Parts: sequence; structure tokens; C-alpha cells
Amino acid sequence: MPEFGFSIKKPRSENLDVTAKAKYEELARRVPSFKRCFQCGCCSATCSARQFTDYNIRRLHTMFRRGNTEGLAEELRKCMLCGKCVLVCPRGVNLRQLIINMRKMLEEEKK
Ligand code: SF4
Ligand code: SF4
Repeated sequence: MPEFGFSIKKPRSENLDVTAKAKYEELARRVPSFKRCFQCGCCSATCSARQFTDYNIRRLHTMFRRGNTEGLAEELRKCMLCGKCVLVCPRGVNLRQLIINMRKMLEEEKK
């Protein structure tokens, strides 16, 4: 790799090819619109639960995508499934279905 005068520190780098790609692919199979997410954060900005807690749906679906599921099930319980995030998502991601399926997959993992 060429030297650009800077480098990414190893603890801050992430190889998405090896981190839980299977989990992401399964979630994207169940909710195909998730593939269109470009991490803009509109879902978090408008979220009802976010107004009262530190719940952050963008952070949570990014964690899931990266295979970091520690504490995720508890956080996802804060969602009221109101659907406001679905209305504002510029890429038409079905976040309600996404949240329901993340919850399901995390439950299935426990079995
Ligand atoms: S609003 Fe839609 S595109 Fe933006 S981060 Fe949320 S899910 Fe992704
Ligand atoms: S459905 Fe859940 S994540 Fe979306 S705005 Fe409502 S409380 Fe927030």
C-alpha cells in the first residue's frame, strides 16, 4: 500500500468483510431496503424514543451491521415502533421491519 503520510490505527480500523458479514446479509435478506441505507442519521434525528432517552437507531443498526451485538437487544426495547423514522428516511429503509427483525435475530441467537 502506498504511504500517504498518515495511516489508520489498527484499533480504529474495521474489516467489514470479516465482521459478521453473514449477520448483515441475513438481515438484508429479510429487509432488502436496508441495503440502501447510507448512514445519514435522519432516522435518529426524528426518533420519538431519542427525545427521551439516549437511544440512537442509526448507531444500533450500524452496530448490528458490524456484528457488535453486545447490549443491543436491551437498547432495541426502547423503540416504540411508532414509524416516524420510516417516514423521514430518504432511502426508503423500512426501519420498523428492520428493528423487528433485529430483535427476532437476537432472540434466535440466544436459542
Ligand atoms: S434515515 Fe435511512 S438512510 Fe439515513 S441512516 Fe437512517 S436508515 Fe439509513
Ligand atoms: S419506530 Fe422506533 S426507532 Fe423509529 S422513530 Fe419510532 S421509536 Fe424511533
